[in-house]
Amino acid sequence: MKITRISVYHADLPLEHPYWLSGGRLKFEVLDATFIKLETDAGIPGWGEGTPWGHTYVPAHGPGIRAGIKTMAPFILGLDPRNVLDVERAMDHALPGHLYAKAPVDMACWDIAGKAADMPIADLMGGGSRTPRPIASSVGAKTAGETRKVIERYRKRGYVAHSVKIGGDVERDIARIRDVEAIRNPGETVLYDVNRGWTRQQALRVMSATEDLNVMFEQPGETLDDIAAIRAKHAAPVSVDECLVTLQDAARVARDGLAEIFGIKLNRVGGLTKAARMRDIALAHGIDMFVMATGGSVLADAEALHLAATVPDANCLAVWACQDMLTVDIAAGRGPRNQNGHLHLPQSPGLGVEPDEDALGVPVAVYQV
Ligand code: MG
Repeated sequence: MKITRISVYHADLPLEHPYWLSGGRLKFEVLDATFIKLETDAGIPGWGEGTPWGHTYVPAHGPGIRAGIKTMAPFILGLDPRNVLDVERAMDHALPGHLYAKAPVDMACWDIAGKAADMPIADLMGGGSRTPRPIASSVGAKTAGETRKVIERYRKRGYVAHSVKIGGDVERDIARIRDVEAIRNPGETVLYDVNRGWTRQQALRVMSATEDLNVMFEQPGETLDDIAAIRAKHAAPVSVDECLVTLQDAARVARDGLAEIFGIKLNRVGGLTKAARMRDIALAHGIDMFVMATGGSVLADAEALHLAATVPDANCLAVWACQDMLTVDIAAGRGPRNQNGHLHLPQSPGLGVEPDEDALGVPVAVYQV
């Protein structure tokens, strides 16, 4: 089987509500999504998606995906998409770095491989758990009152896990954490996500002031050096996500004991092939996981769900359904959807969902042999 054609689509995915990170430092209203369709000489197509969370969140942006695919296309065409390691090496050879541009190609290859084997991707990866995965909400709000309102909105849809975005103002962060903990239901998982929004002194002040609450923080500093520097001075469990990009990052975090949780985001780390290695490093070191898309439609959520299904139930804290935050649906209700706050692994071969091609319009680029 050979890849014969790569079609690239561009779509803007508007967010239902404006979204703030780091206490209002960054605002997002629309996501720049790239969808790709790989076609093969066997007549089996595969779909991939790359949707970074805007242009200002991490060093990944929508136009970069389309430019990266243009650069890599001549090296990908003609390869057997079922040999995901060959495709991975070809991309790494053609374009060092730029993992986020490689992720949609890797995703489309796994989709084809699953369809060719007549298996869901998670099963092809070695076996997918059918235990529904709890979806974490993403609470990008500024004040305690708004935070309560957004959490309540998610609870009405069945959510039992929440990622509350904080960072930037010590007093306000302490007040918001105390407020959320006061209304937290038994059994609810809450992660306080700083998104790199603290300096070291800010991190220590908030983490010390909330020590009695025994809460978890995500990405409480800009770099792994920052997280390492405060490591011995606080007692809180830490998740890393923005600083978890390469396998070397994962190895350092595990070896040096910098975090107890990996926030694996598929687009950021370069797709399923690379993310699966991070999963194994995590499991080998007693590190639990949030497994998520970086953003995007039901396709991106489905990809993350397949990886999450290959994590033992006890070690997978939550997934995400970014689709719930969008005003458009490019797959007309198909694929894994929120069912009382959980996503269920698709049973059909490959990714288990394809976009509505009419909704994507005309490709912005086509590469073929
Ligand atoms: Mg995060």
